[in-house]
Parts: sequence; structure tokens; C-alpha cells
Amino acid sequence: MNARIIDKIILSVKTSDGAGVRLRRSFGSHAALRLDPFLLFDEFGTENPEDYIAGFPPHPHRGFETVTYMIDGHMRHEDHLGNVGELKSGGVQWMTAGRGIIHSEMPQQDRGRMRGFQLWINLPARDKMQPAHYRDIPAGEIPSVELAGGRSVKVIAGRIAVEGRELTGPINAVAGSMATDPLYVDVQLPAGAAIALPVPAGHHAFVYPFEGEVVIAGERIRQHSAAVLADGDSVHVTAGAAGARFVLIAGRPLNEPVVQYGPFVMNTPEEIEQAVADFRAGRLAA
Ligand code: FE
Repeated sequence: MNARIIDKIILSVKTSDGAGVRLRRSFGSHAALRLDPFLLFDEFGTENPEDYIAGFPPHPHRGFETVTYMIDGHMRHEDHLGNVGELKSGGVQWMTAGRGIIHSEMPQQDRGRMRGFQLWINLPARDKMQPAHYRDIPAGEIPSVELAGGRSVKVIAGRIAVEGRELTGPINAVAGSMATDPLYVDVQLPAGAAIALPVPAGHHAFVYPFEGEVVIAGERIRQHSAAVLADGDSVHVTAGAAGARFVLIAGRPLNEPVVQYGPFVMNTPEEIEQAVADFRAGRLAA
């Protein structure tokens, strides 16, 4: 295997979104910080209800997918189509905004820890104007495997073979025609433990430790930082002295122009003007 080395490390910046939810943003904190097809990556994590209680009141999206992975906590999704989804600890919501969705994501708890991630995955031009749809995937439907030495791997999206075990996430390109063929895994390692994970060559990939820190190809990646990987067909990750938990996210780049205006991501400025006009006229998702 041709192990990937680190291309660059992106430190997350503290910011807030929605009605004042505090979070750490790595990709997406400014326009140059994207990793095709990934537009944005946010980590939210706090014990303090003041940091999350205001939630994300109704807002639109067009042209991409949003993936929310809840590690701890409970949020409710509601959208203009009448869908209501409960997102609980260990669960995932995979929403394809397509031509448009207007939704809210509101905390269903007023105390305790709220922790998780939101990832924005771009759609190719041909898929941007498809009807919106979404899937709620409860924790029990996410395959996981326990490996020797107390290591564990969960697969949210894509297919991966780890030490002879084949895992297929509930979201995968085999079932549909996902141009980006995303891989999304959550890995836990005890102190000093190592793991080798295959990553398709040519796909853009990053590793984000959210507990502890890790070492890849001799370089240390601190907690809450995104390590963008150079090309190769695998990544070898070793946990630091306190153990580690990280996500590995990879996808096929679209190599298309990206024009973004807040929650609208299209290919041309004219398409963005259309999205804004559609939203103002109440027909974003019509
Ligand atoms: Fe949203």
C-alpha cells in the first residue's frame, strides 16, 4: 500500500452559526478553505446549554448535501416538506438539499452535553437541482467492528475493508449514484494503538481527531485540527499517549467551479442569483 502523508494541517477556528450555536470550523471558514467535494466541516461540542440552546431556526440550502453526525445529544429536524426527524446520540442525518430545502435543527435538551459534526458535501452540476430528500440513520444502523487491542471502527458512509473485515455504511455509492462516493468513518484507538485504513487513490481525504491527538507519517495532529492527506491508497494513524478518536472523511473531487453565497452552492453566479430570487419568491424548493 502507498501510505498517504500529510499535505497540510488546518486549525479549526471558533465561530458561531444558526441563532448562536458555538462551534469549531475547519473547512469553510473562508472560501479558499475547501477540499473538493467538501465545502464545510464543523465540530460542535460543549457541556454548556448556552452554547447550543438557540439552535438553527429555519434556513434554506440549495445545491449540496449536509451530513450531521451526532456523537452526544438530541436535535430535531423539521423541514418545509413536513418531515420531522429525531437525531440522537450516535445517529446521522444525511440530507440532500438538491434544488432546495428549508429546515430547522433545534436542540431537544436544555442541559448536558451536545457534541457532533456537520459536513457539507458538494453535488455535481447534474445533481444540484434534484428534489430534496433526507435520511435519518439511527445509531443501531451504523455498522461497527471491534478490532484487536481495543480499537473500533464505525462506518457512516462508503465501503472499507479493515484487517479482513468488510464494512458498508448505510450511505454508499453502490446503492445510488453518488458522484462523490463519500467515505466517512469514526475510529477509536487506545493509547499508542495504530491502524491502517484504505482510502481510494485520487479521492481527497482528511483526518480530524476530536479526542486526543494522532500521528500520521511522523507528524502530530492535535485535537480539533483537520489533516488534509496527500494522495495514496491508505492512511496509517497512531494514537497519542491519551488515546484518540478521529473521523476519516474522503470523497471523489468534482473539479467543477464552485460559486457559494451562504447556504446556496452552485456552479455560476447566474445560478446563485436564481437561487436568491427563488428563495425570496418562496419557490426555492417548489
Ligand atoms: Fe441546515
